[in-house]
Amino acid sequence: MKNHKLDYDYVIIGSGFGGSVSALRLSEKGYKVLVIEKGKWWKPTDFPKNNWQLKKWLWEPRLGLKGFFKMTFLNHVTVLSGVGVGGGSLTYANTLPIPKKTFFSSGSWAGLADWEKDLAPFYEEAYRMLGATKNPSVGPADKALKQLAKELDKADQFGPTKVSVYFGQPGKTVSDPYFGGKGSDRTGCKLCGECMTGCRHNAKNTLDKNYLHLAQQLGVEIIAEHEVTDVKPIVVKDGSEGYFVHFKSRNQKQTVSTKGVIFAGGVMGTIPLLLKIKQKSLPRLSDKLGCNVSTNNESLINVVSNNDDVDYTKGIAIGSILHTDENTHIEPTRYGKGSSFFKTMLLPMVHGSNIFSRMAKMIWGILKSPVVFVKILFSKKFSEKTTILLFMQTVNSTIRIKRGILTPMKTVVENGPKPSAFIPEAKTLADQYSKIVNGTPFVSFLETLAGIPTTAHILGGAGMGANEREGVINANNEVFGYKNMLVCDGSMISANPGVNPALSITAISERAISKIPNKEIK
Ligand SMILES: Cc1cc2nc3c(=O)[nH]c(=O)nc-3n(C[C@H](O)[C@H](O)[C@H](O)COP(=O)(O)OP(=O)(O)OC[C@H]3O[C@@H](n4cnc5c(N)ncnc54)[C@H](O)[C@@H]3O)c2cc1C
Ligand code: SF4
Repeated sequence: MKNHKLDYDYVIIGSGFGGSVSALRLSEKGYKVLVIEKGKWWKPTDFPKNNWQLKKWLWEPRLGLKGFFKMTFLNHVTVLSGVGVGGGSLTYANTLPIPKKTFFSSGSWAGLADWEKDLAPFYEEAYRMLGATKNPSVGPADKALKQLAKELDKADQFGPTKVSVYFGQPGKTVSDPYFGGKGSDRTGCKLCGECMTGCRHNAKNTLDKNYLHLAQQLGVEIIAEHEVTDVKPIVVKDGSEGYFVHFKSRNQKQTVSTKGVIFAGGVMGTIPLLLKIKQKSLPRLSDKLGCNVSTNNESLINVVSNNDDVDYTKGIAIGSILHTDENTHIEPTRYGKGSSFFKTMLLPMVHGSNIFSRMAKMIWGILKSPVVFVKILFSKKFSEKTTILLFMQTVNSTIRIKRGILTPMKTVVENGPKPSAFIPEAKTLADQYSKIVNGTPFVSFLETLAGIPTTAHILGGAGMGANEREGVINANNEVFGYKNMLVCDGSMISANPGVNPALSITAISERAISKIPNKEIK
């Protein structure tokens, strides 16, 4: 089959941060682009009022749940991720920090480029495109973090987050404030704290409102509610004649042909898909596939206040950040009013080397103040009383994702320590924060019982290397062994950023696509 007969120049699998950047930039270079996304299109008014509306919030199609928030339970970690046109931007907390210097000089990409210098203009562009601005508001949870910063003698390390939210005037709609009239309307943020259940107020700069919106104007096609199941080279084994991309909806299977493919399904989409197709369709993929997966050393601790007079839902989802040392950061995170689903999964936070010591500590903690415990768990104002402390570290601990015998994925411990639910610094900070808000720290029952942490920042699995023995992709995100095939999503992240990763995924994808030449006009 000759190039001119192919249906598309590029097919992009997934429409999260990496996929959206790829769609816009490739179309600007003159390519014919198709994006295939397994989740739904969402309008602001479609989002649920709170996370008890499971059908609109959770993604678990086998149970008929077609929301945008997915939980994946793996052996060593529970992963939270987004599904839908716009990927993780639909459910993320808008926070866009640039990682510390160690990120740019460690991991499997170290030395492949001068990353800090190379990426600087792409971080700026990512900020511009995502409409990033300093959070102007200070909610009760941010005040409590500021107090913690003072007590730690780190007041200078506390500050507002940079976020992808349109603030303007609360509730007032204006025409495109970002792209000189080419973008969509925005309405001023109401500081309702609902960002992670989808912004119903049109203030959050999700990817469907920036990169994808502009890409569609340039002719990019987006097919939602279809999942890519296979990618096969056409005739020539290295894909130099193009690829067939197979995808399906509930009742229909389809195939398109394309010159190039961008894998952008996020770690939870790209890695299981590549592991599956390495077995037959893409056998040249590096054996490093699935290796060096990190969790940002994250800990999610729900601190529930015993006070009735403070509303911790006020503000945007993450309003401030505190850098407690060179490697460690915490952010107070919130859901909006009524979003208390997670209380069904919580147990008191206790550390201990085995389940018996943890159970004993937990029962003792409950017996010491049973009334407080019952009051918290049955409170109708659970979300108003709760701050989720998001603790992150640059310290490296990685796992490997493999194909399970009965499951698409299982995890095994790789080098160094496995991700831990028991990070002493996280507990100390949570205890200190709890004192400030007169609260009690809770974590997922899987942490307390099985020591399995939860992360919203799963990264790696298709990392960079100098060759196919060291990585799955090269420094320009090109997959070793195949032509015109790139990975542009969280799987390409080759060191631990230690902070929220969406901005870095956007910037690195911008750089990768900038290396692709414009389409030749024949
Ligand atoms: C609750 C929550 C809050 C977060 N808050 C922040 C934050 O404040 N700041 C931050 O930086 N990060 C945050 N994150 C993390 C951030 O959302 C992710 O790091 C980011 O979305 C990853 O981007 P990506 O390009 O890897 O792909 P994703 O955004 O994960 O998108 C991948 C898309 O591909 C689709 N897909 C997967 N497989 C297929 C397939 N086979 N066929 C078709 N489509 C497929 C998926 O449905 C999905 O829509 C948060 C995450 C969660 C869950
Ligand atoms: S705080 Fe409310 S209005 Fe503002 S971005 Fe978040 S969900 Fe939208």
